[in-house]
Amino acid sequence: MTDTPTQLFIGGAWVDAVDGATLPVDDPATGEIIAHVADAGPKDARLAEEAAVQAQQDWARTAPRARSEILRRAYEIILERTDELAHLMTAEMGKPLAEARGEVAYAAEFFRWFSEEAVRIEGGAGVLPDGRNRMLLSRRPVGPCLLITPWNFPLAMGTRKIGPAIAAGCTMILKPAPQTPLSSLALAGILKEAGLPDGVLNVVTTSRAGEVVEPLLRGGKIRKLSFTGSTGVGRLLLAQCADTVVRTSMELGGNAPFVVFEDADLDKAVNGAMVAKMRNMGEACTAANRFFVHRSVAEEFGRRLAERMGSLVVGPGTRDGVDVGPLIDANGRAKVEELVADAVQRGAEVLVGGRTPQGPGCFYPPTVLADVDPESRLMDTEIFGPVAAILTFDDEDEVVRRANDTPWGLVGYVFTEGLDRALRISERLEVGMVGLNTGLVSNPAAPFGGVKQSGLGREGGRVGIDEFLEYQYLAVPVG
Ligand code: NAP
Repeated sequence: MTDTPTQLFIGGAWVDAVDGATLPVDDPATGEIIAHVADAGPKDARLAEEAAVQAQQDWARTAPRARSEILRRAYEIILERTDELAHLMTAEMGKPLAEARGEVAYAAEFFRWFSEEAVRIEGGAGVLPDGRNRMLLSRRPVGPCLLITPWNFPLAMGTRKIGPAIAAGCTMILKPAPQTPLSSLALAGILKEAGLPDGVLNVVTTSRAGEVVEPLLRGGKIRKLSFTGSTGVGRLLLAQCADTVVRTSMELGGNAPFVVFEDADLDKAVNGAMVAKMRNMGEACTAANRFFVHRSVAEEFGRRLAERMGSLVVGPGTRDGVDVGPLIDANGRAKVEELVADAVQRGAEVLVGGRTPQGPGCFYPPTVLADVDPESRLMDTEIFGPVAAILTFDDEDEVVRRANDTPWGLVGYVFTEGLDRALRISERLEVGMVGLNTGLVSNPAAPFGGVKQSGLGREGGRVGIDEFLEYQYLAVPVG
């Protein structure tokens, strides 16, 4: 970890913040500071913007195959350094090493996927209906982009944006979350090694997000914002983008329903629940937040889920055999504690967990709550922790209505063995993604994103690159 860069990455060079400021990065398993990284202010942001703007024209003219090969090389380097990157991620974010290795593979895959997409950007040609004009359509990079990422998937949230931006020919400034800047800086080093020209990617780590980002969005040079984070911050940034009409992609929060029908295979449902709830310690936008279980199988499902959750080993992510690492910080854990206390106070039964352990680190045990009152706060708040809240339902119409009764619409999970019902319910859920008898939907080859207040646009899949491209239509008279 001693080699991990800690400076800003601007115009292809590693530099300190203009005012020399730094910010500490700590290990949520111990509370110890593991590094200090440069803490950028508005002047550094302006330098990054200049570098991105200056590099844009040449980068847009670079052959698609050259852009593709840079991504391919970076994909290979990431995989070669899986262990090193996984340790870095576990140190700054807390997830167990096995999960961190999984994220490295997932993150790398976005580069492989978009290295393949870079050479398949297609336009079109035709004669207009009046027969007098031809229409030539070409696809152009949207221009310099600002990419803002959260702390929960420190590497993959970066590659999911950087991959398509590079493939499309856009330059960019990446602003990672202050809790997890090291993974992004390591990624910048890898892309430089893979041959990315100076200025195409600039990384600005900062504890002053508002001061750094707002002037960029209002300055008129940034042409696109791609944001992943909470709905509240997304809403604020959308307002800032409105003045200069900056194009946006928004990957925001979720409140996923997990629906188990009476005809579900309960083994599949419990396995799916473990993934949908416990991936990343529950700190995922896709995390199942509300378990709606048919009354006739609720007790059995709750018992089995509590047994599995109770058998998980909680501890520092670097320790062998650990399944559940610490939450990101004291605030994150306090929020989970408050939500559980509120549900219990309203009559929920704690089947397992529910007690904060003593000692250092932001640990919280896997917890299952049964008979949760629908008025509990965790029904309309992202729990972002290892807590499964179970409610019961009696019929299809009721569960669809309750599942959709939220401003969010990222993902839903449906467990049933009936094909008709599976399709019918999936179509009625107001979400961008559905896991049918599975607790995992994320894949670089699939379009990821939500409806309602879960966001705008999609990342990954064939459409992921469209977010970074504009059409230009050329009218040419038929001679
Ligand atoms: P967050 O508080 O919204 O922060 C996300 C990013 O925005 C961070 O880099 C943050 O930096 C920055 N930010 C905050 N305020 C800002 C401002 N005024 N101007 C510019 N940037 C600002 O979210 P988080 O706690 O890091 O991440 C968890 C959230 O992300 C959850 O809601 C989760 O559902 C969502 N998420 C969504 C997806 C998806 O694909 N839909 C994926 C992962 C996570 P600072 O921390 O310095 O403020």
